[in-house]
Amino acid sequence: MDLLDRHAHFHPQTDPKVLERDGPIVFERGNGVTVTDSSGRSYIEGMASLWCAALGFTNPRLAQTAHDQMLTLASYHTFNRRANPPAIELAEKLLSIAPMSDGKVSFCNSGSEAVDTMIKLSWLYQSARGRSRKRKIISRHNAYHGSTVMGATLSGLPHVRGAMAVEDNDVVIFAAAPYHYRQAQKDETPETFAARMLSELDALIQREGPENIAAMIVEPVMGAGGVIIPPEGYYRNVEALLRRHDILLLSDEVICGFGRTGHWFGCQTFGFRPDMMSVAKGLSSGYQPIGATLMSREIYQAVSEEAGRLGVFGHGFTYAGHPVTSAVALETLRIYDEIDLIGRVRSLSKAFLAHLHSFSDHALIGETRGIGMIGALELVADKVSRAPFPPSRRVGARLIELAMERGIILRNLGDVIAICPPLVIEEAEIAALFSRLSDALADLQNELLASTSI
Ligand code: PMP
Repeated sequence: MDLLDRHAHFHPQTDPKVLERDGPIVFERGNGVTVTDSSGRSYIEGMASLWCAALGFTNPRLAQTAHDQMLTLASYHTFNRRANPPAIELAEKLLSIAPMSDGKVSFCNSGSEAVDTMIKLSWLYQSARGRSRKRKIISRHNAYHGSTVMGATLSGLPHVRGAMAVEDNDVVIFAAAPYHYRQAQKDETPETFAARMLSELDALIQREGPENIAAMIVEPVMGAGGVIIPPEGYYRNVEALLRRHDILLLSDEVICGFGRTGHWFGCQTFGFRPDMMSVAKGLSSGYQPIGATLMSREIYQAVSEEAGRLGVFGHGFTYAGHPVTSAVALETLRIYDEIDLIGRVRSLSKAFLAHLHSFSDHALIGETRGIGMIGALELVADKVSRAPFPPSRRVGARLIELAMERGIILRNLGDVIAICPPLVIEEAEIAALFSRLSDALADLQNELLASTSI
C-alpha cells in the first residue's frame, strides 16, 4: 500500500518531502468518532476529518440512503430545467433553516465551488443593477476560501497562494483579520480592537472607492487561518458599514454551517445577515462531495433577470444537484433534526469549552479560544511576551505527531492546534480527547526541555 501510494498519489496540502520520507498514513475504517489506520491503531478524530464529519464515520442510514438512491436514479444533471426529487427537497430544506428563507439555492460539489459561485453571482448582481464597475472583493488576511483559482486568490495564507493564485489582479483586496491575540496593539481591549478594525476597513473602502467594490467575503470563525473568533460586535458593525457603502456581505459557512458554532449558521451566532452563504462539509457530514450557495431573494431576482437577458444563466457544474449527493445531504439534515443538533451542540459545548480553557494556564499555551464545538490552542515560546516559536522548529506539527501516538487526531495550523470533533461525540469521548492532548503536551514539553538542556 505504502509503496503504491508513493508511486502514484500526489497528496493535497502535504509536504512532499515528509511524504517521501515517512510515507502515507493509510486509514482503512471508521467506527463512530474513531478512525483506524492500516496498522490497526484507532484514533479519536478530533477534527471530524477536515471539519466535516459531524455524524462520525459510520452512519448506516447515510449508507442505506446512498445505496437506495443509486438503485433509483444513480446520476443525472440539473441543467436546462432538469430536476430530481432529492435535489428539490434538499433546496427546500436548506431554505427552511437559512436566514434567507425566501431566497434560492444553487448546488455544486465543494466549498471552493460554492465560494466561486458567490463571487460570480456578486458580479452578475452588480452588473444587473447597472453597477458593473463594482468588481472588487474584500477578503481578509488569514482567510481560507478554497483551492480553486478564485479560492486561492481570496486566500490570505501564503502557502495557499504560493505561485498558484492570481497575483497581478485588481480584484481581491485585503482587510485585517479580527485576530485579537496576535493583531491587537498594546492595551487594546477586544472592543477598542474591533473599533480599530472597523475604521481600517472603512479607510480601505474609501481608498479603493465603494463604487468599485462588489462584496466582502468572511468566514464567521476563520478556520484554516487559525480558528480566529472575532470580538463581540465586530460583524454587526462590519455589516452596517458595508450596507452604507452598498457592498454585499458574503458568509463562507463551509466550516461554521450546520451547527458548529451553536446555531445553524455562523452568521446567526454572530448576529449578521449575509446576502449569500456558501456551505459544504457538514451539509452531508462529509459523506458525499456536495456544496451549495444560498442567495437572498433580491440577489436571485436581479441575477435571474440579467441571466434572462443573456438567454441563460451560464454557470453550473455537471454534478450540481446530483441525486445521490443530494439524497445523502437531505438525510443528513433529517438526522440533524432528529438528534436536535443545535441543542446537542449547545449542551456539549459546555464540557468542550471547559476542557479547552483548562489549558489556559499551561506554560506552552498562549491562548485558548473556542465557540460551540470548535476551538484552538495557540502554542507560544513565551507566555508573557507571546513570542512564537521559530517556524523552523515545527512545534505545532510535532505536537500533532505526539497526539497521534496518544491516539487522537488534531490539526496544526502553524502553531495553532485546531479542535473540531464530530458533533455526535459523547462527553466521555471529549474527556478522553483532552486527556490524551494533555499527555501529548507533556511529551512535547519534555522534548523541548531535553532539546534546550543539551
Ligand atoms: N471555505 C472555507 C471556509 C473552508 O474551510 C474550506 C475548506 N476547508 C473551503 C472554503 C473549501 O472547501 P472545499 O475543500 O470543499 O473546496
